Amino acid sequence: MTGRFAPSPTSAMHLGNLRTALLSWVFARREGEGFLVRIEDLDQQRVTAAHGVADQQLTDLAAIGLEWDEPVVRQSDRLGLYRDAITSLDTYECYCTRREVAEASQAPHDGHRPYPGTCANLSDSERAQRRTQRPAALRVRSEGASFAIHDRYAGEVTGLVDDFVVARGDGTPAYNLAVVVDDGLQGVSQVVRGDDLLSSAPRQAWLADRLGFPVPEYMHVGLAVNAEGQRLAKRDGAVSLADLAELGHSAVEVRGWLLASLDLEPGLTNAELLQLPLEAWAAAARRWVVDPDQLAGLVNRMSTT
Ligand code: GLU
Ligand code: ZN
Repeated sequence: MTGRFAPSPTSAMHLGNLRTALLSWVFARREGEGFLVRIEDLDQQRVTAAHGVADQQLTDLAAIGLEWDEPVVRQSDRLGLYRDAITSLDTYECYCTRREVAEASQAPHDGHRPYPGTCANLSDSERAQRRTQRPAALRVRSEGASFAIHDRYAGEVTGLVDDFVVARGDGTPAYNLAVVVDDGLQGVSQVVRGDDLLSSAPRQAWLADRLGFPVPEYMHVGLAVNAEGQRLAKRDGAVSLADLAELGHSAVEVRGWLLASLDLEPGLTNAELLQLPLEAWAAAARRWVVDPDQLAGLVNRMSTT
């Protein structure tokens, strides 16, 4: 069994990312298994704009007490592997803009608009003509498949697999393709990540199967959200380790908050965490409502109850 944490280095990790990282570490290491960190830096425009973030993310993970197997891989070093995988799939060129897909498609389902197949059966001359208008993305032919995955918290989840994008118009491999190729090639058998990605799991598992990789076990854990129930973001205030350090909160203290948010004693050591029975981690499935002003109180509340 091998687990992993796969941050995108587009902005500093916030408390929710750190909590997910802690959970992916514990679920791998409690069984004495491999734990990898993979930097998902394919979106070069956003990554370049956020210079230095990847290294900071590794520093932050270490600061809250996590360790991982070397080497840390970066997706930008692995483009050839993604190209080989794409070549092995049954794909077709798609010239649709986001807007065209939106107009032709049903309402988004969990944030994803099923592709209606507009470009699936174009003739050679139609393709030649459309190519002059716009660089083509590549979509995989799914033949309307549906695929079931098992998630430790959500149970069995079945999803329709549409003809999703595997390479973008600029040639960059799509996230859904790269994540599956990497998990497959790295032998990842346990995927722990935020529950915003649960609806992507059937599509990714179907692709893993297509590419000849075993389908991993999934654990989609509760995202950190603000008081309005929205995904935690910079505008929610002091939520990265750097912000919190400026306010005088150490990484050790933050680790205590993460544990308290999981209904665990904030002072537990790594060795103690790894000894806990699986049932002790049930709170991982719940979303964490973060109010930056009340974080320090979280641990106090915990030690008085
Ligand atoms: N890189 C993705 C993110 O930061 C996570 C991908 C995954 O865990 O599958 O949202
Ligand atoms: Zn299209």
